[in-house]
Amino acid sequence: MLIFRQLFDPQSSTYSYLLGDSAAHEAILIDPVFEQAARDAALVMELGLTLVATLDSHVHADHVTGSWLLARRLGSKINISSASGAEGADVYLEEGDHVDFGKRYVAARATPGHTDGCMSFVLDDESMAFTGDALLIRGCGRTDFQQGSAHSLYQSIKGKVFCLPGDCLLYPGHDYRGLTVSSVAEERAHNPRLGGDISETDFAGYMDNLNLPHPKQIDAAVPANMVCGRPADESLAESGPGWAPLTFTFAGFWEIEPAWVEEHGTRVQIVDVREPDECVGPLGRVPGSVQIPLGALEARAGELSKDKPVVTVCRAGARSAQAIVILKKAGFEDVANLAGGMLRWRAQQLPADGARD
Ligand code: FE
Repeated sequence: MLIFRQLFDPQSSTYSYLLGDSAAHEAILIDPVFEQAARDAALVMELGLTLVATLDSHVHADHVTGSWLLARRLGSKINISSASGAEGADVYLEEGDHVDFGKRYVAARATPGHTDGCMSFVLDDESMAFTGDALLIRGCGRTDFQQGSAHSLYQSIKGKVFCLPGDCLLYPGHDYRGLTVSSVAEERAHNPRLGGDISETDFAGYMDNLNLPHPKQIDAAVPANMVCGRPADESLAESGPGWAPLTFTFAGFWEIEPAWVEEHGTRVQIVDVREPDECVGPLGRVPGSVQIPLGALEARAGELSKDKPVVTVCRAGARSAQAIVILKKAGFEDVANLAGGMLRWRAQQLPADGARD
């Protein structure tokens, strides 16, 4: 079965796309965003997938790619077109190349015009295509910087995208209005720049007169993307806060394993957010923990020190995740959730005060 997830970066309005083969447990990620690498890595792990490749549709001007960071963390191979001129990739794609994941693949199609090195990626059965910034929903990428050419973009869209089957779903690199997907037939008919009977001259005239402002991120993003997102300071690749081995969850917070807390309990403040009667119940309490019920945490956060990391605990790990949100709002930086709560703590037969077996 095909696994498919559309992911969004609200800062740059960028879409990233995870495609996986559920039988082979292999996946690829199209256009990852640097700041979202922890989120994306957590999703890949939670779905039980191996990330075999990242694909950049082009050298972006509005955000830094997460390709290098994911390669470093998950061992994925960095793919980008050879025409991009980017350094540091593992695979330089040419027209028609396949990028495999399990028994599935996407085929690369050169769709220059927004930049020289733009590629679109078409799923093996032509049911989906990922058009990067070449074709957007009811729009298209800019052609006024980074070797942009309205004439070549027109030829790319007509010759490489609009020739796909009409029901092929189109997934763009960005959307600024909340649209998520279109289809070839829909864009052929309704794209106001490239659809219907619009000629190459009409299109070029339109694109040459857009007078758009200079992209805000271009001066920082393009040099970073020319090296596939490898930062000058590689310590940025460290996979999280340094105070403990933490795992980032797709839900958006850090988790810590019970065994580490048991061994290093004195280095952290352990806050149990269950109700008082639960804390004296059969599961017992983590030794050394303080009891502050979730409903009182906001008011009593001042009882905790901001100089020592906080580990939040509840029965199964859900309320303690909410406790993290409250503590973050109160200005606590180093906060992690005890993975699996007291249930896992007890299942791992770790010592608990007041526990009854
Ligand atoms: Fe772009």
